[in-house]
Amino acid sequence: MCPTGALVSPGILDNRRCISFWTIEHRGVIPLAIRPLIGDWIFGCDLCQEVCPVNARPAAPDPNALAAFGPTIEARPRLEDLLTLDEPAFRRRFRESAVWRTRRAGLLRNVCIALGNIADRGSVPALVRGLDDPEPLVRGHAAWALGRLGGAAARAALTYGLSRETDAWVRDECGLALQACGPLAVPSVV
Ligand code: SF4
Repeated sequence: MCPTGALVSPGILDNRRCISFWTIEHRGVIPLAIRPLIGDWIFGCDLCQEVCPVNARPAAPDPNALAAFGPTIEARPRLEDLLTLDEPAFRRRFRESAVWRTRRAGLLRNVCIALGNIADRGSVPALVRGLDDPEPLVRGHAAWALGRLGGAAARAALTYGLSRETDAWVRDECGLALQACGPLAVPSVV
């Protein structure tokens, strides 16, 4: 049931494998080994909460409790569109919602990882724009995703990105992504 095997035994959760921990609580770079486990989730997972018998008791959610979360992100947002959000747009859309917790850089980091895992080359232009993001956190994860998608356009963007990148970690990500570029590197998850 847990997509990453984070529930290692009854009552024991290994947060180092939990999608909700990495995509909501963790600030900064998500380790290379964890990124493929995240699939196309961009803000938690909570499958364990949905199937938990303790949570099955209320017949319907309390509307006042739901309202406290503010406007919610739609169930299937277009991920490429989320990569276009600048700071004011992110604030307008998510300031009153739980998504605010990730801040803009965290949400866009998660979007890059999801696009890398979905592995649809139609996402390459959006990820190329991600290489220009003001936040190194977003640029580095966009580079990783481009390496997963591969192909000539991704390779050209990574080569150009590497030539002008000043952040050492992002440069490393561009280099690793260039090594990964080639045929579609991962099977699509959708
Ligand atoms: S939130 Fe998702 S990844 Fe984390 S323990 Fe629950 S089912 Fe597993």
